Amino acid sequence: MTQTPAPASSAELSEAERARILAKAALFAPPPATLPDGRRDLVGLSREELAAEMVAIGEKPFRAKQLWHWIYHQGVTDFARMSTIAKPMQAKLAERFVVGRPGVVTEQTSTDATRKFLFGFRDGQQVETVYIPDEQEDRGAVCISTQVGCTLSCKFCHTGTQKLVRNLGAAEIVGQFMAARDAYGEWPSPTDGTPRLLSTIVIMGMGEPLYNYENVAKAMRIIMDNEGIALSRRRITLSTSGVVPMMDRCGEELGVGLAVSLHAVRNDIRDEIVPLNRKYPIEELMAACRRYPGASNARRITFEYVMLKGVNDSEADARELVRLLKGLPAKVNLIPFNPWPGSPYETSSNNAIHRFANIVMEAGYASPIRKPRGRDILAACGQLKTESERRRAARPQATPSKAAKADAA
Ligand code: SAH
Ligand code: SF4
Repeated sequence: MTQTPAPASSAELSEAERARILAKAALFAPPPATLPDGRRDLVGLSREELAAEMVAIGEKPFRAKQLWHWIYHQGVTDFARMSTIAKPMQAKLAERFVVGRPGVVTEQTSTDATRKFLFGFRDGQQVETVYIPDEQEDRGAVCISTQVGCTLSCKFCHTGTQKLVRNLGAAEIVGQFMAARDAYGEWPSPTDGTPRLLSTIVIMGMGEPLYNYENVAKAMRIIMDNEGIALSRRRITLSTSGVVPMMDRCGEELGVGLAVSLHAVRNDIRDEIVPLNRKYPIEELMAACRRYPGASNARRITFEYVMLKGVNDSEADARELVRLLKGLPAKVNLIPFNPWPGSPYETSSNNAIHRFANIVMEAGYASPIRKPRGRDILAACGQLKTESERRRAARPQATPSKAAKADAA
């Protein structure tokens, strides 16, 4: 008699699903951190890896602690400026290692002071990073990218029209923040409560961070390390389009704030505008939010909702949203749709946005309407795409086909 195997529990299923997602991410791995001349970039290594590098060249592990301080607290990239390290040792390090930064390919400043950087990496790939200064106070958010392109094809998103080229490595993710700090001269890293100009990180740039979880997690651990950049997890928010199996891990291991790109309250509409919904529908996404460790009234989950005229902006949609959020510590960020060349939607009218906001607010949820920033330089939410891709997209035959993207997903 043949025995049918017992059905896998949902925990087993999600473990298998996580393994599948991580294996796929590895196919799009960044190039190795070694320069053509054989020197290795020290940025992006964990503390343990840095100590291992020191041991490998016959040094004591405490060198790693010293280097960590110079690299991440002082922001120094030149070994000759590391004054607590003796000259011969500085030379030895410089022969074998570099403290790298992404190259600034272009930099543009909007009329509202938002600044967009196009960073280039060693293999010629590029991403955009945006600094959004607060309009009243000396602080601001750095919006960081995690992938070159994106496997997902959310219909309203410019990045989504660019196929995934590769994941960014931890060095490239940390490097965006460090290079932005270079541009504003914010070194050494402010300690304790000292105000920071680059005060928060939002992982809301190009790409889906939970499809590049290992590199994102490593980068965030470096950024949160108390002896280096020391940015608190409370000042970091990760935005996901809803990669359900990875959300628990993100909460447990990193404890950063969560933003969820909801954008629609009915599966038929969300299937259409956020195609990942076909894999992880609204009910599963909301269940993952309810499980998200660390969510509380003090640390509410942000639900992002792009306002698309005639698609998701009715009063009925607002009421359904309130029903979905019931009992969750949540706030809703209403994002007027930011158009891009060739985009298929229109922004909802001011009236529709305010009507929607009022319904959500009256139900007890904060529902700020996000003011578009840096639209004139295509730096607003969903407008990021690298210049080379923009040029390529202008030549119709080279535009990535839907099939090519589906293959990559
Ligand atoms: N991949 C992640 C993070 C990057 S997108 C995610 O999807 O959450 C950051 C936010 O900008 C998301 O909420 C995304 O849906 C939103 N967005 C994308 N295109 C937009 C556009 N054209 N106008 C306004 N918001 C947009
Ligand atoms: Fe990718 Fe996010 Fe854009 Fe969707 S909204 S295509 S997940 S970057």
